[in-house]
Amino acid sequence: MTFVYPDAIISTAGHVDHGKTQTTYALSGVWVMKHSEEIKKAMTIKLGYAQVGIYDCGEEYYYTDGILINNKCPNGSEPKLVRRISILDVPGHEVLVATMVSGAAVVDGAVLVVDASQPAPQPQTVEHFAVLDIIGVRRLVVAQNKIDLVVKEKALENYEQIKKFLAGTWAEGAKIVPISALHRVNIDVLATYIAKTVPPREAELGKPARFSVLRSFNVNPPGTPPEKLRGGVLGGTLLQGVLKVGDEIEIRPGLKVDKPKPGYQPIMTKVLSIEYGGYKVDEARPGGLVGIMTGLDPALTKADALAGAVAGKPGALPPVWTTVEIDTKPIPRSIEGKTEPFRQGEVVLIAVGPATVFGVVQAVKKDLVTIALKKAVCAEQGSKVVVIRQVRNRWIVTNYGVLKG
Ligand code: GDP
Ligand code: MG
Repeated sequence: MTFVYPDAIISTAGHVDHGKTQTTYALSGVWVMKHSEEIKKAMTIKLGYAQVGIYDCGEEYYYTDGILINNKCPNGSEPKLVRRISILDVPGHEVLVATMVSGAAVVDGAVLVVDASQPAPQPQTVEHFAVLDIIGVRRLVVAQNKIDLVVKEKALENYEQIKKFLAGTWAEGAKIVPISALHRVNIDVLATYIAKTVPPREAELGKPARFSVLRSFNVNPPGTPPEKLRGGVLGGTLLQGVLKVGDEIEIRPGLKVDKPKPGYQPIMTKVLSIEYGGYKVDEARPGGLVGIMTGLDPALTKADALAGAVAGKPGALPPVWTTVEIDTKPIPRSIEGKTEPFRQGEVVLIAVGPATVFGVVQAVKKDLVTIALKKAVCAEQGSKVVVIRQVRNRWIVTNYGVLKG
């Protein structure tokens, strides 16, 4: 089968345990990793993602990798690849909110997963929906999941609740597809509506390459002899431009150094290979999640050590910041209620682009908050920044704003 680039990124959204990960699995046939619900430590947020092929089997609805049988159409015909999309499945509610708002990945559309066996909407459903609004995602398909758990009347009641929730919003009239992710029921219908609702992105191929590093890995099994070692791998998404095998790249903020003076030294390396979910290609493009093998010592990339960095053409990357000034606005939250004003000395987490780092509030002037970061971030002035605060012993996304300086 010839390779077709993923042309859009879809995010899952919805209340915890409603079946976001299970739905991703049903569509893609790939289990994205499960992770803890809390943001325990900055820079350890692991985003799951999967590539989904959408296929024409000559039937009314499309098939996907998750529902083909041994890569064949269930009716015996040869699947015809229509397009490929990437699905982002972010573990944990707060991380999902932070990821979406901070622009770690450009999201083209969302699948809102709603558990049919519970009254709708649940609090995190409301919050994710508000976040989609803030970041301007306007393409939505609702997966009314766990349909296997309810009788018809209950399913219809839940369907009406979802419709009522969406009424009068930008998503009024969004397709609501009853599914059972667990039993792979109606996944073809869901995939078809995703493909219809979310058109291929117009990739900005002409701009300088900018790669958002969401994960980083050492892909060598323990005990690999030095001469067989494969270079460090960066997982993430191109926000703009193209990256080719053989390209020199710069990674920022890079390595923390003490000499000649304390600061960050950009990392320079080379693209050795590019892979989309098992497909090796010569060029990475925006619109999907991709793995890039570099010439770096894998010790530098192991265990997400470079997650949060930005890579691109040498000399063309945004500035590196160790202190940020943010014009903050509250994010509408349904459960947590009002939060207190920022306090000097308060420890917060900020998410900007792919990076999530701890910081200490230095100064507060009305909505303008200055934060000294524990670890530098690489971001354009004017980028969206998310502030995550500790509220009653939980990390909660409370504010967002623009990086002023
Ligand atoms: P997430 O927190 O939204 O990612 O939810 P998960 O995908 O992890 O699913 C939460 C739980 O619901 C798991 O135990 C799943 O097995 C279960 N689940 C997911 N989809 C279905 C479904 O269609 N039917 C049933 N009965 N259980 C489901
Ligand atoms: Mg999940």
